[in-house]
This record gives sequence, C-alpha cells and structure tokens, in this order.
Amino acid sequence: MPAGAQYDAIVVGSGAGGLAAACVAAAEGLRTLLLEKSPLIGGTTAVSGGMVWIPANPKMAAAGIADSVDAARGYLERCAPPARDTAAREAFLARGAEAIEYLEARTSLRLRPVLNYPDYYPALPGATRGGRVLEPEDFDAALLGRDFALMRWPLPEFMLFGGMMVARPDLPHFRALLSSPRSAARVARLVAQYAWQRLFAARGTRLVLGNALVGWLLKSALDLKVELRLNTRAVGVAMRKGRAAGVKIEANGRRETLAARAGVVLAGGGFSHDAELRARLLPAAIAKFSPVCAADSGDGIRLGLAAGGKIGETNSHNAYWAPVSHFRRAGGGEGVFPHTVADRGKPGIIAVTRDGARFTSEAVSYHEFVLAMLRAGEAANPAFLLCDRRSLWQYGLGAVRPFALSLEPHIRNGYLLRARGVGELAARLGIDAAGLERTVATYNEDARRGVDSAFGLGGDAYQRFLGDARNAPNPCMRPIEAAPFYAIRLYPSDLGTSAGLLADAEARVLGAGGAPVPGLYACGNDMNSIMDGAYPGPGITLGPALVFGYLAGRSLARAAPMR
Ligand SMILES: Cc1cc2nc3c(=O)[nH]c(=O)nc-3n(C[C@H](O)[C@H](O)[C@H](O)COP(=O)(O)OP(=O)(O)OC[C@H]3O[C@@H](n4cnc5c(N)ncnc54)[C@H](O)[C@@H]3O)c2cc1C
Repeated sequence: MPAGAQYDAIVVGSGAGGLAAACVAAAEGLRTLLLEKSPLIGGTTAVSGGMVWIPANPKMAAAGIADSVDAARGYLERCAPPARDTAAREAFLARGAEAIEYLEARTSLRLRPVLNYPDYYPALPGATRGGRVLEPEDFDAALLGRDFALMRWPLPEFMLFGGMMVARPDLPHFRALLSSPRSAARVARLVAQYAWQRLFAARGTRLVLGNALVGWLLKSALDLKVELRLNTRAVGVAMRKGRAAGVKIEANGRRETLAARAGVVLAGGGFSHDAELRARLLPAAIAKFSPVCAADSGDGIRLGLAAGGKIGETNSHNAYWAPVSHFRRAGGGEGVFPHTVADRGKPGIIAVTRDGARFTSEAVSYHEFVLAMLRAGEAANPAFLLCDRRSLWQYGLGAVRPFALSLEPHIRNGYLLRARGVGELAARLGIDAAGLERTVATYNEDARRGVDSAFGLGGDAYQRFLGDARNAPNPCMRPIEAAPFYAIRLYPSDLGTSAGLLADAEARVLGAGGAPVPGLYACGNDMNSIMDGAYPGPGITLGPALVFGYLAGRSLARAAPMR
C-alpha cells in the first residue's frame, strides 16, 4: 500500500447507509473518510420519503404502541418468506432499536414515530397500524452554514415555488387550504417562512422527509470530523493478504490508493442505473427510467464482487418496485415521477389496461401495484391512471399538482391527456373505448355504495391510509363523472434495487464458502435486502440502511488496530 493518507475506515457513498456507517465509525474514534463520486451528498436518500422502518423501536413504546421482535419476525415470515440464512434479518430485528438509540445519543439525528402509517399487509398477524415507521424531525439547514450547498436537492416535483419542501403532516392543510381557515393560516405561515429563508439560501432551509435525514446525518458527520471527498469515485478495493485494506480512487482524472486500517464500507446505493446488471437481474418489462439517483450505478456491488463477495440470487424480486410516469421537464431534462402515496389511492382515480379494464386495487403498495402490472402483461405496460376534473383539482395526478391553475404545460408536452367524455379519453389514449366506458360505469356504481366489487379498493387499513379520510363511505372511491376527464401513462419501475452483496449480522460481506471477506462491509442497497425481495412496510430500505450502517461502524471499531 503506497504511503498516502492513512484512515481507519473508508466509506463509499453518502446516502443513509454510508453516512450512518461513517458517523458511527467516527463516533467510535476512528479516523474516517467518506467518498462520494457526485458533487453532492445524499444519493437517493436525499430525494426519498425518509421513512425508516424499525420494529419494536423505543419511540413507539413511548407512544404506547405495543410491538415486539417476535411479532415483527412473524409478520416478515408471512409477507417476506426468507429463502436463505436469516442471520442478517435477525440482527436487524434484534438490534434495530439499539441502532436508533445509539444514533440519537451519539449523533444529531432526530427521528419521530409516524403513529398512523400502517404496514403494507395490515391484515397479516404481526402487522402494526403505525409507529414501526419513524421519520426524521424537520431539519433546519441553516445549521449547516455554507455546507448546505453540498446537499442534493429533492425531486423538483416534490417542492413548491422551486425550493419549498412540504412535510407529510402539512399535506392535509394544503389540501384543505380553501375550506379551512385554520389550514389556510398554517399554509400562509409556512409560505411566509419560506419567503424569508429564500433571502439567505438558494432553497428553503426547512428540510423534511429524506432531505432532512441527510441533513441530520451530514451535520453529524461534520461534527464528528468525518473527512468528506466529493467528486471522488471509488474504483477498486485494495486487497492485502486477502483483507480489504484500502480503496482505489479516481478524482480529477488522477488515480491513487488510500489505506483503511480497519476496513472499507460499500454503500454506493445499488444498481438502478447499471444497464448490464439491470438487464441481468430485472425483468425486461421494467422501464429503463427510474427516479433513483443517477449515480447509483452498481459501482459498490461490482467492487464487492471483484473483492471476493457474492451477490444474492434467491430474492423473490431484485428491486423495490414502484409505478412511475415519465415526462420532459419544462426547463429541459427527464422527469420520472414515482406514484408512491400521492394519487393512486385517492377517491375517483383508477388505473386501467389497454383493454380499458382495471387490474388491481389502486391503493395497494407501490411494490404490489407493479407486480399487478407485470401479471397483467403488455396490456398494462404502460397502464393508464385516470380521473375526472374534481379529483385532478383536489389530488393532482403525478407531476400535475393539486389546485394547478394551468394544465396547459402538461397537456402540451403530452404528459396529461384530456377529453370531454370517457370514450373520447380512451380514443386519445388509443385504448378500448367500450371497455373503459363499462369499467367506469361499474366503478361509479360501486363507488356510490363504497364497495369495490372487483378488487376491494379501500378494503384495509393501509389502503384507507392512502385515501382521503374526508371521503365517505369509502376513502378511496368516488364516482368519476365531472368532465373533463384526464389520464397519464404509468410504467413499472423501481425505487432502488434489493439484490446486493450477501452480508452477515455485522454487515460483513460474505465470500467463498459463506465466510466474511476480512475488512469488507456493505450496507444500504449495496447489501442484499434482508426482506428477500419483498416490501413489507414503509421505510424497509432506509431502516436496514441505518441499522447495518450502525453495525458496520461498530464492527469496524472492534476491528481497528490500536493506534
Ligand atoms: C422517490 C423515492 C422515495 C423513497 N422513499 C423511501 C422511504 O420513504 N423509505 C425507504 O425506506 N426507502 C425509500 N426509497 C428508497 C430509498 O431512498 C433507497 O433505497 C435508499 O436511499 C438507498 O440508500 P443508500 O445509502 O443505499 O444509497 P443512496 O442514498 O443512493 O446513496 C448512494 C451514494 O453512493 C454514491 N456512489 C455510488 N457509487 C460510488 C462510487 N463508486 N464512489 C463514491 N460514491 C459512489 C452515489 O453517488 C450516492 O450518493 C425511496 C426511493 C425513491 C426514489
């Protein structure tokens, strides 16, 4: 190993996994370097919803919600049957609460429980109606000073006025803006605060969701003196006597090798943008575009494989699925809108195939929705999400925001289709008009009774959570009858990849014969998902990313030679 900077730990990638590992390693006294190949910190974590799933966490206990590791294990066994050794899953269950307690005690990270967000299969034994999922508290980016400029922005479609983030609890107030003076006052206060923040910053400084998670972790990393190198790409793991002893990097066209005495953590965010791994591991029907950060291009997994690691091959699915819509942004560039929670489950919005027929309950989880698209085959690829004027105004449709004063830009660029009648809309979409008219007529009849005879839309706690509680008798259904009618196209895509490097209960990468590759760790989406390809609840990628980042950091500290 050439004499260069000597570190104890080197972490590749600055999303939730990498930041957590770096913060914990530094909190344990290790000299830690965090490498990020893009100019910005945060990866996909920064554009995410920031939900963190941790069963039996201390915050839900404090809020009076009962949970246990046994209940969570039982739940996972039902909706995510393990296909292989469960040591990593067991470690997540057993040590998740400990990880959160440690991170809150030793770093700035602050999380709060989301008390009403159900698991995605709420009828299964062991499911909870809320509290298993935590979200970051609002983060004041002024705390970062100039380093705020290092953070990746959220997706433009999830900001107002070009830079204002809206917290999950604020959404109902935006929706009730015109009907509730209390909501109007709250929204006016938020907008005024935002206008004030913009006097000093390029965007609003009240960060929420995944951006807040990155904000808290970045502040922690800076406070703990983690060294950051941006625009620096890891191109290899330097092995010495079979042990990961450093990282080969490339920056400004120059290559060098940096030594890591305790070890190396791979947290490059998975392979959503690696065409070759995508073609090998994802079904051909999955769209080529994804809302995942473009820099998540499989580097960490390839580095781990070259160092002797193995990729998981027994997952039920190799990615976390989500339906997306696709468009050109007004300022240029590609927009990919993930239809996770905003529109699908709302009243008066349905999804149909080319035959004009519905193919699933619209309010199932995004992962299940894509599985239904795949089962429906080519007729649902793309599928079509449609609604009437009333629902479009109230809930929006993909990148078309609620209360949009002008629809013209979306209609002009071909994203949103509009017609005076349902049959005419079908003609515009090039789908079966008689089929669509029949479907809408049946749906409308069902909506009046509040019972979806075809797919049970709104039939469980999670689906109702996605609906609109003010809408009776079914929060997810309302007749589609107020012309004009609107539609967009939906494609099957991903929120991240779940096939990754096999790792053990300490996040150590496993190699030949299932033995750890000494000194090599993986977390986040570079580590094979402990959910075995399933998506059991909100936050099941970020929860494990934080927990295995924590476990990697602690393990590195134990492995570090005395200085
Ligand atoms: C819109 C959206 C919403 C989501 N909401 C949620 C949610 O609420 N809860 C949840 O659990 N999951 C959610 N997900 C999924 C979740 O965001 C990701 O699974 C998670 O952020 C992955 O974290 P990570 O640390 O593995 O990678 P990332 O956060 O993507 O970070 C990886 C980083 O590694 C860097 N990198 C890559 N290669 C190299 C290299 N060679 N050298 C140096 N750096 C490198 C990348 O530039 C990137 O910055 C969402 C995803 C999307 C798209």
